[in-house]
Amino acid sequence: MRYDIAIVGAGIAGASLAAKIGDRARVLLLEGEERPGYHATGRSAAFWSETYGGPHIQPLTTASGPVLKAGGYLDPLGAVHIGRDEDAGAIAALLDEFAATPVALTGVDPQPLVPGLRPTWTRGVSEPTCAYIDVARLHGDYLAQAARSGTELVSGARVAAATRRDDTWRIETEDGRVVAATILVDAAGAWADEVAARSGVVPMGITPYRRTMVQLQTDPPVPATLPFVIDVSGGFYFKPEAGGRLWLSPHDEHPMVAHDVAAEELDVAIAIDRLEQAVDWRVVRVERRWAGLRSFAPDRLPVYGMAEPGFFWFAGQGGFGIQTAPAAARIGAALLLGAGPPDDIDPARYAPQRFRR
Ligand SMILES: Cc1cc2nc3c(=O)[nH]c(=O)nc-3n(C[C@H](O)[C@H](O)[C@H](O)COP(=O)(O)OP(=O)(O)OC[C@H]3O[C@@H](n4cnc5c(N)ncnc54)[C@H](O)[C@@H]3O)c2cc1C
Repeated sequence: MRYDIAIVGAGIAGASLAAKIGDRARVLLLEGEERPGYHATGRSAAFWSETYGGPHIQPLTTASGPVLKAGGYLDPLGAVHIGRDEDAGAIAALLDEFAATPVALTGVDPQPLVPGLRPTWTRGVSEPTCAYIDVARLHGDYLAQAARSGTELVSGARVAAATRRDDTWRIETEDGRVVAATILVDAAGAWADEVAARSGVVPMGITPYRRTMVQLQTDPPVPATLPFVIDVSGGFYFKPEAGGRLWLSPHDEHPMVAHDVAAEELDVAIAIDRLEQAVDWRVVRVERRWAGLRSFAPDRLPVYGMAEPGFFWFAGQGGFGIQTAPAAARIGAALLLGAGPPDDIDPARYAPQRFRR
């Protein structure tokens, strides 16, 4: 079988790109797991925040907002970044970082916004545009759109090796499939460098970091009006979920070799300890715990583009791959199909050439 473009990885990155290009090229989507979305995409905290990832990610997040809103994927949440007196510098830096952007941030007293917040948390920044994202529906809709436009999805097909000769990739999967494609897209998330190495391409230095999430029942139950609460110094974040539950993360980052990660007891304990230092709620039960891999290039910006002939990077989506997916897919499609760069975002900042000088 011969394709114009073979995309490796059917998480949000591969699925969104396939949805964008499927009607203009013969596309194959190869997924190593039986179920697309099993890794980072299915394990996220499911929020859209224009400040998350910093000012160089913000253009991608902001540009994705209208698409996500129009599709009904966002629900209002609002965020408050909180700090203690000793975090005054971090609060000022956050306001400064985004002063030249369209993101509306204002200094606030966090006490009235977070019931039960301990009195030492005296400083806050309000980010009213922050929203919940319906990740499962977004990912499912991208896969459905890709399928409608003719993309073939093959699950349980882990790419074992790829070799390029005469402008054609010969791609072998671990279950013995062999396909040919003109362009190979690496959308393998935490495995992006591994897929490059299996294709004879120099890795980009994309490192997976484990991040832990816990779902808690608290006393009192979390009010539905609670905003997304994020420690400005990076110790934790939490947000309300259906049924008065709480999703909490200790904001951990453990570098590791890509694999099917699970939450560690110690990180769950650290998360709860940090929550208890922030609010006076009692933790009644840990209902769920999970972990996923957030994968970053050395400068923590994503990598979109061709570094070597025929090998297209679409990786390094870090902790913002869902909220940036519509803009990222638009950039990826423009670069792949030679449509010229989009005029609202400069893709040069995310080009792989920045690591190949
Ligand atoms: C705990 C946590 C919270 C997060 N919260 C948010 C959030 O609130 N908002 C947000 O925007 N982002 C968030 N993120 C980040 C977001 O989840 C990721 O950036 C995004 O899911 C990355 O998508 P992906 O498609 O690149 O990776 P993945 O979803 O991991 O998909 C990569 C796929 O490639 C497949 N693959 C790997 N190797 C091969 C191979 N050799 N052959 C075939 N297939 C292969 C894998 O099986 C996998 O399915 C969070 C991440 C974590 C872990």
